[in-house]
Amino acid sequence: VRQTSLELKAFRFAIENSDNTIVITDANRNIQYANEAFERNSGYMKDEVIGKNPNILKSNLHSEEFYREMNEILDRGEKWQGEFVNKRKDGVLFYEKASISPIIVNGELVQYLAIKLNVTEYIKTQQRLQQSAAVYEMIADGIVIADSEKNILSANPSFIHMFGYTEEELVGNDITIINSSDQGGTLYRKIWAKLLVKDHWRGKMDNLTKNGKHITVLLAVAIVRDAKRDIQNYIATYTNLEEIIEMEEKANFLAYYDTLTKLPNRAYVERELDDIFELARAEEKRVAILFIDLDRFKVINDSLGHHIGDGMLVILAERLKKVVGVRNLLARFGGDEFVVVMSEVNDKREISLLAEKILMTVRGMITVKDYHLNTTASIGIALFPDDGNSMNVIVKYADGAMYYAKDKGKDNYQFYTRALSIDIQTRLELEQKLLYALERNELYMQYHPQYDLQSRQICGVEALVRWYNLELGTISPEKFIPIAEETGMIVKIGYFVFEKACKAYMDWKKEGIELEWVAINLSSIQFRQKDLLENFVAIIEKSGISPHNLEMEITERCMMEYTEENLYILGGFREMGCSVSIDDFGTGYSSMSYLKKLSIDKIKIDKSFVDDLPSDKNDQEVSRAIIALSHSLGYQVIAEGIEIKEQEDFLREHACDYGQGYYFGRPLDSDALIKFVKDL
Ligand code: C2E
Ligand code: MG
Ligand code: MG
Repeated sequence: VRQTSLELKAFRFAIENSDNTIVITDANRNIQYANEAFERNSGYMKDEVIGKNPNILKSNLHSEEFYREMNEILDRGEKWQGEFVNKRKDGVLFYEKASISPIIVNGELVQYLAIKLNVTEYIKTQQRLQQSAAVYEMIADGIVIADSEKNILSANPSFIHMFGYTEEELVGNDITIINSSDQGGTLYRKIWAKLLVKDHWRGKMDNLTKNGKHITVLLAVAIVRDAKRDIQNYIATYTNLEEIIEMEEKANFLAYYDTLTKLPNRAYVERELDDIFELARAEEKRVAILFIDLDRFKVINDSLGHHIGDGMLVILAERLKKVVGVRNLLARFGGDEFVVVMSEVNDKREISLLAEKILMTVRGMITVKDYHLNTTASIGIALFPDDGNSMNVIVKYADGAMYYAKDKGKDNYQFYTRALSIDIQTRLELEQKLLYALERNELYMQYHPQYDLQSRQICGVEALVRWYNLELGTISPEKFIPIAEETGMIVKIGYFVFEKACKAYMDWKKEGIELEWVAINLSSIQFRQKDLLENFVAIIEKSGISPHNLEMEITERCMMEYTEENLYILGGFREMGCSVSIDDFGTGYSSMSYLKKLSIDKIKIDKSFVDDLPSDKNDQEVSRAIIALSHSLGYQVIAEGIEIKEQEDFLREHACDYGQGYYFGRPLDSDALIKFVKDL
């Protein structure tokens, strides 16, 4: 008995102090005994759990199935082994490897004995290892693990990809396999020296790939030591900086250069100009800004396509570079705008010389694909410090002077002057006031009679828009129509004009005046309205005018733009029954072959060819040629700007069909026209 009692005590001590959790339940699975380890692992005190079911530890992470299977085994009187994820009293999960054995005495199940080992730490380590392994496999950085002799033990896929070696070629090899030769041994010796002191090193360096390519990497090496502080492993990670460097360079390029011509852009000039001005100030020199804008580039771009336009810009950029030279800065500001910054200018003659050279080089024929193209440039010039002290001001003035050069007939250069600044100012003012002209009822219509030159009868009128502003007075359409076109206002104005003209025609009809047509001027900007035809049809129907009494005047320049759509819209007008005439004929880019293809009815000889008739030989020939050509193509001809009898006579004699001009009468408003016709 003594012996047994001693043994039991020893057992009890062992159980009590075991690292394993030991729990004994009765046959109904209520806890009878739990040891110290139970308290440590579960967070429950023994007293709290005696008499309770161990399922107080349930975490809900196991399925019902799991517990059912376990119970089935135990019910059969067999031993169950498995792993629990349980929940401590404080709610924290822990992992237990467990075995539960039924205790059977005399064939009867009396108790259960559960022995459990807390494996939380082990599982967590396991999970961490798995995560590390995944990182090792997936990370974009190259990772190499080497032994204490610097021999590679393993390399991750990114390392293999980055340096181009296979795993077999790497494993067992010295890690210095990827060192680039040109940095000599010194850098590496330094790195190793630092590494051994601090156990880690980090820095940018150059490495060699298998096929000899140098790549810049960010290297981080760390030493892993064992318990005795002996070196166990080297772990090196390589971040490829090539992409980052490339991206930086690209971003820099995109920010400061134009991708098409590879020229610096506006931002580049902005960045540099302060320094350039600074230097000029110190050296008491001038800086000239030449603002170059191509003439009619838009027409080429729109009619031949952007790839032709782009090709042209690239060629011109090359030519300009040669002319401008390396001492000056050439930039593309966007579209067809180039800017030259000419530093160290001594006098204006130098600038004029360069401007002339630029004009000349632009004039030369440009061949893109199969197209032989010609263009010219308009240049505006402003000076530092004469015209201003800041980039913004000088560029603005150069831009303004460029517009002045365009006004002066293009293909020339102009220096900014103070007087010009007033022009720019009034233009801005016009623009502002025009915005509200329609709602303020400042626009109205006049109608200019057109005559049959043979019968000398009035047969139609041209509708002309007028603008009267209280402050500015009467503004000529020559002035405000271009502004309306640039601002897009022309679209609204166009509908206004069309509506008024249709209505006026019907008013005249009511008065018994039946003109053959009312002619309406259309701007190319209006042609860009996708629903132009529909909207015009609606206006026609509302007014009740017959489309046969409408004539659409389209300028020659307009016909060069947006070819496809323009032809479609023109066709639409003619299908309806409207006639179409080409306005300002002879002033634009007329192409004979083009003229033949157009579906039009009439050609309008521009006033400039009529002005010097009949004395000027040249104008005689041009007008005769236009008339002959038109007739041969089956088109009628009208001449505008007839101011004297001799002009009318000449044109009639040369078979011009119609005429319009102050000689016959001035443009009149609708009521005045009624009176005018009735009084004839
Ligand atoms: P345009 O279409 O060539 O119009 C003819 C211009 O020549 C009119 O000037 C007319 O008054 C003028 N004219 C006609 N005969 C004579 C003459 O014997 N002597 C003189 N000195 N001038 C004559 P206006 O009304 O100043 O129009 C100028 C331009 O403004 C027009 O040229 C046209 O391009 C544009 N425009 C006028 N009204 C409209 C409009 O409603 N819509 C559009 N898009 N443009 C318009
Ligand atoms: Mg006209
Ligand atoms: Mg005209």
